[in-house]
Order: sequence, then C-alpha cells, then structure tokens
Amino acid sequence: MKVSIIIPCYNEEEMISLYYKEMKKVMNKMKKVEFELIFINDGSTDKTLDILRDLSKNKDVRYISFSRNFGKEAGIYAGLKYATGDYVGLMDVDLQDPPEMLIEMYNILEEKEYDCVATRRVSREGEPPIRSFFARMYYKIINKISKTEIVDGARDFRLMTRQMVDSILEVTEYNRFSKGIFSWVGYKTKWLEYKNVERAAGTSKWSFWKLFLYSLDSITAFSTVPLSIAAIFGVLFCLVAFVIIIFIIVRTLIFGDPTSGWPSMACIMFLIGGVQLLCTGIIGQYLSKTYLEVKNRPVYIVKETEKDLKNK
Ligand code: UDP
Ligand code: MG
Repeated sequence: MKVSIIIPCYNEEEMISLYYKEMKKVMNKMKKVEFELIFINDGSTDKTLDILRDLSKNKDVRYISFSRNFGKEAGIYAGLKYATGDYVGLMDVDLQDPPEMLIEMYNILEEKEYDCVATRRVSREGEPPIRSFFARMYYKIINKISKTEIVDGARDFRLMTRQMVDSILEVTEYNRFSKGIFSWVGYKTKWLEYKNVERAAGTSKWSFWKLFLYSLDSITAFSTVPLSIAAIFGVLFCLVAFVIIIFIIVRTLIFGDPTSGWPSMACIMFLIGGVQLLCTGIIGQYLSKTYLEVKNRPVYIVKETEKDLKNK
C-alpha cells in the first residue's frame, strides 16, 4: 500500500524540517505503509528549495519546484498529477493539519466504505472576528447560489482513493477552486472535525483582500446565478417603468404639465445607470474567466524536480 502526501510550500523555510520531523513520527507508527511525500515549491523566494533539495536525499521525499509562484491551487493540481500512491493526501506544511490524524484517515479508507476522508474545523479560534463573520457569510451565499456543496470550515487536509484522484485530474479547468472540485466529482466523503490549530511558525500567506478575491473566483467558478441578476433587474425595472408611465399619463391629463421633478429624474438615471454598470461588471467577471479558460495556458510550470537533482 502506497500513500502519497502533497504538501504545497511557499516561503516555508522555517516549517519544512519541523513538519518532516512530525510526519516521521506518524510514518513510523504506520510501518506497513509506504509513504511518498511530495513537496511543491511554489516559487518561494527564501531557502525553501535548498531545504527541499537537501531533504529529498530521504527516499520517501520528492519535490516539484515551480518556475514562479502559481498559487496553492496550482500546487495541489501538480501534486495530484505527480502522485503515484494508492491513496493521496493533501496537507499544509504549517502543522495546522495534525499529522496524527492521518492514521485515523487511513484506517477509515481501508474499510473501503468511503472514497475520501476530509476534515473541517469546528472552531475558528485565533482568527479575527470580522474574518470569521465574512467567512460565514460567504459559505451561506455560495451554498445558496451553487449546486455544488461547499462545506463550511472545510480544510484542504484530506486523504482520497486513487479512483477519486483520477476523477479530479479529469477536471482540467484553469480557474481551479479545489474545494468545489472535490465536492463536484462526487464519491462518498467522511468528514472528521477538529479544533483550529494555530500555525507553528512563519506567517499566513492569505491577506483579507486575497481571501476576498479568492471567494469571488469561487463564485464565478461554481455558480452562474449572478449572471441572472441582470435579467431579474431588467424585468423588475420594466414593471416599475410601466406603472410610472401610466401614473404620469393620468397625472398629465388631469393636472396639465408644469415642468418640475428633475431631481427625481436625475436619481432614477443614476440608479438605472448604476444597475447597468453592475450587471455589465458581473458579465465582465465571467467573460474574463472564460477568456483565461480559452487561452488554455498551463496551470503551472515545473522548473525542477528531485529527478533532475539525481541526474546532475
Ligand atoms: N501556499 C502555497 N502557495 C501560495 C500560498 C500558500 O503553496 O501562494 C501554501 C503554504 O505554504 C501552506 C499552505 O499553502 O503550506 C497554506 O497556506 P497558509 O498557511 O498561509 O494559509 P492559511 O492556513 O492561513 O489559510
Ligand atoms: Mg496555514
């Protein structure tokens, strides 16, 4: 039995050896399983690559180094492509995903009832309250407007069967939102819950703004409901306009036509103009995603792997 673990790393020089030490403890407890740790160097600007080159002397370590920073989603995709295990797992390098849980995850998959064991955190301790608030709002909205379920608090930490991984690899879209893709491919997932653990060292790579943009990306990737907004507004405004027209005709017939009411006219123009721009903007979002998709650029570019190092 072979288990591949994919670990995206971006400027994580402090964490890699700490992580490997913790993983080693778990791997020693699972003697029957052959492990393959695939580290993805996502264009780090610190010593991450040097540390990985060094670490890959261990035969359970492999690495893939990108030509620049392509983002965690690209890292996950590359890892899934390179993984050769019967089970494939995803983990962050910052030890926010407790390695000991892998034992339980592995045992559950071995019972052959589930195709995937995933984790979700039940608490958001150590996170600013505003961020938690927006996160909760986001999950509410996306689950209303998307047919694919996006589980609140789901982490990327999970272990999947080869069959499920192959299905995920068939989803070749450029704008990748893994949480959605994992759910979209279906299969039976068992959810394990755990408390939020804070990062062991280094800093989070996600700012509030980055998370916000990421959430917008996920909406365009998994829902087309915003596109209907223009149509809904259109119908609504037509109805309102119809009522107003009748009102004005009747009023003019009864009271004549003194010139007044330009402020209300200006307000209406602004309102309708605003709504039109909003709708054009939404269409623009989808158009830009389509544009990127049509260009068909590779999701990531590999500059070096552990094999190149051995050939040198
Ligand atoms: N990461 C990556 N590429 C990026 C940003 C992050 O590979 O552009 C990796 C990072 O090294 C870590 C994981 O993704 O292993 C999660 O990142 P982080 O801990 O910063 O996110 P958070 O836990 O705060 O959501
Ligand atoms: Mg983290």
